[in-house]
Amino acid sequence: MLSHLRFSSDESRGRRYPEPEHAYRNPFQRDRDRIVYSRAFRRLENKTQVFAPDLSDHFRNRLTHTIEVAEIARTVAGVLGLNEDLTEALALVHDVGHPPFAHAGEEALDREMQRYGERFNHNVQALRLVDMLESRYPRFPGLNLTFEVREGIVKHSRDLTPGESPALDQYLPELRPPLEAQLIDLADETAYNAADLDDAYDAELLRPEDIAAAVPVYAEILETVETSFPGATERERFHESLRHLIDGLVSGLIDGTVASARAAGVQNVEEVRQFPSRIVRFTNDAGATSRELKKFLYQRVYSSSELSEDRVRSMEQLERLFGYFMAHPEMLPGESEPGDARPVHRAVCDYIAGMTDGFFLKTYTALLGSSSV
Ligand code: MG
Repeated sequence: MLSHLRFSSDESRGRRYPEPEHAYRNPFQRDRDRIVYSRAFRRLENKTQVFAPDLSDHFRNRLTHTIEVAEIARTVAGVLGLNEDLTEALALVHDVGHPPFAHAGEEALDREMQRYGERFNHNVQALRLVDMLESRYPRFPGLNLTFEVREGIVKHSRDLTPGESPALDQYLPELRPPLEAQLIDLADETAYNAADLDDAYDAELLRPEDIAAAVPVYAEILETVETSFPGATERERFHESLRHLIDGLVSGLIDGTVASARAAGVQNVEEVRQFPSRIVRFTNDAGATSRELKKFLYQRVYSSSELSEDRVRSMEQLERLFGYFMAHPEMLPGESEPGDARPVHRAVCDYIAGMTDGFFLKTYTALLGSSSV
């Protein structure tokens, strides 16, 4: 459908440290494999997505969330005729910069870094990981990923403003990223909206009727499912309805993007880049449903007392551990070696951001006593 807007693997601006081509994997397939073999990727398994694992064995963690995003993004890229390899690499890397404890962790680290006149953002952190913190190749620091994957890491969820950060100026801040990167954000949104409903249902925070009362499209789906499967259990009907919901959102993403590309009249990747706004979008209806779902989840799930208590505790613990390492930088592991040019607060931030939830709690208990504040 949009194969004329596909980013071809031959068009890559290449890697920082030039490497010979691989015999049978294109550059984006190689990037995908480097991401999957990285430590940061494996640590996603023990990082909270939204629900901490102590309530149930079935909640998403950041790794299973990442797989869901990759599956949705790749489906959309395939249908549209875009580059599935670039899309997959971008989806798999999109959350590797997340600290422990989900958004609470990100907020707390950002707050700590602001005391030193800096910020913390998980996309910029992902770039630090793939550019320098991962250390497994003798010939270069980091993973030496292609320009397009590194560009997508910092631009998949927002446009840059020229001059906002000298470090980001190399990622063409005046241009939009290719469609493969643009679609990651809405694939992410589709995946987490559906997954958070599912996990919240498992956590007994909501019933299908509650979603139906807030989201008209979901009410229609639920009614159809109830008519089609009168003997099914509530759980079966709920899962059936979620499948239809995801399907509708993904179709809305495909149709919305095709319509938007036609309206924009873009003929090639360069015109996508030059276009003043993003091309990838939902249809109006799917966009409205996605916004209603977010609002419902915010009111009903993210700000529920169950999650708020966890969030407050995690932020306090993170603040204390950050303060501890600032006072005792000698306790930082070997990453802070001679020749390490990072200021101490950046080394502390990198260390804590890389931790899994479990490792954070173990470290906290060892250094500061009981983790049950
Ligand atoms: Mg995500």
